[in-house]
Amino acid sequence: MFLFSRQLPIVCFLLVVTSFSAAAQPRGTWSAQWEPVKPVNGSPVLFRVTAPRQVAALAGNFLGQDLSFRLSQSCHCWYALAGVGLATKPGRYTLRVEGTGPGEKKPTMSYAVAIAAAHYPSSRIKIPPAFVEPPKEAEPLIAAADAAKKQAFAKLDPDPLWSGRFEPPAEAETSGVFGTSRIVNGKQQSQHKGLDFRVSTGTPVHATNAGTVILARPLYFEGNCVMLDHGQGLVTIYMHLSEFKVKEGEKVAAGQLIALSGGTGRSTAPHLHFAVRWRGEYLDPRTLLELRPPKK
Ligand SMILES: [Zn+2]
Repeated sequence: MFLFSRQLPIVCFLLVVTSFSAAAQPRGTWSAQWEPVKPVNGSPVLFRVTAPRQVAALAGNFLGQDLSFRLSQSCHCWYALAGVGLATKPGRYTLRVEGTGPGEKKPTMSYAVAIAAAHYPSSRIKIPPAFVEPPKEAEPLIAAADAAKKQAFAKLDPDPLWSGRFEPPAEAETSGVFGTSRIVNGKQQSQHKGLDFRVSTGTPVHATNAGTVILARPLYFEGNCVMLDHGQGLVTIYMHLSEFKVKEGEKVAAGQLIALSGGTGRSTAPHLHFAVRWRGEYLDPRTLLELRPPKK
């Protein structure tokens, strides 16, 4: 009994800190919460805002990006996805929201969101030299791949196509976490901008959420690659595939089979490289998979 009464406050405290970050607001009925509780550079961020009742639409701005909020009937709150680029310095940044309603006056509110510095690891890997410094004859293939990606990113859907949680694209353990500094063949290279799933060739790869296939073709470095547009600037990318199960332009449902895994392109062994791109910035896929967006 004594033990129980001592443990209880600790349990309660843990419940509080593992729930959403909350900014208490004394004015009106505004309030805001975000996930993760402590965003870092490279985090996707899910904002939930409770606005005064007369608000019929809610827009926002965070880190220079316009956000368009959706109303959830399940939580009676507005929610929107945002992202913190890898190059963002730690500090306090403002989320500004503005409602529109029946009257001329637009109710607004601002919240300070603290961004902490991420501590990403570093690792040494070896890759066939041809992929680090591609041969001259590969130049047209690399240029074609760059053009295909540019074209895919140029026509993203302005409306949200995703809903609910983002599910892992494969049932497998992960390695090669996002943000790892890579020392390739003894030379410092860029950061790892995705999450690797340990899968052998031929493992089913599923759409993390609903979207449109904007690219499904072989690329020089990425190998056979699928890109899904989830709307509002959010794209998920699946690399090194052995087989495509979807075509460019096709709409896919959450969890739909889109490909089989493989080891094509710049890959030391078969695995699935899963990346999350938000308005030109690569974000941590693991954080996206942990977000709990409200049900509709
Ligand atoms: Zn990878």
